[in-house]
Amino acid sequence: MNNNMDPRLARAIGYAAMFGGFIVVGIGTACFNILEGVVSLILYGIAGLFLAFSIIWMIRKVRCPHCGQLLHLKLYDISVCPYCGKSTDPNSRY
Ligand SMILES: [Zn+2]
Repeated sequence: MNNNMDPRLARAIGYAAMFGGFIVVGIGTACFNILEGVVSLILYGIAGLFLAFSIIWMIRKVRCPHCGQLLHLKLYDISVCPYCGKSTDPNSRY
């Protein structure tokens, strides 16, 4: 496996990107009357990129460094892999 990032950090980055997408949606909705919604459509497009990136990022990166299984993407504790029982800290062997 060529995946040495801590899955907890990867999940935090994914959540940050997802929240960024929601914030852009909020901004787009708030200024829907500017330029007859053109600005909003552009912002929705940007938000869609953020959300797509966050989902792809988490599916690729939030994985156990030992067995490669996809870990919980919700706010469960993933410090221990539920599949192989090892720590998900990439610097730990157990
Ligand atoms: Zn595992």
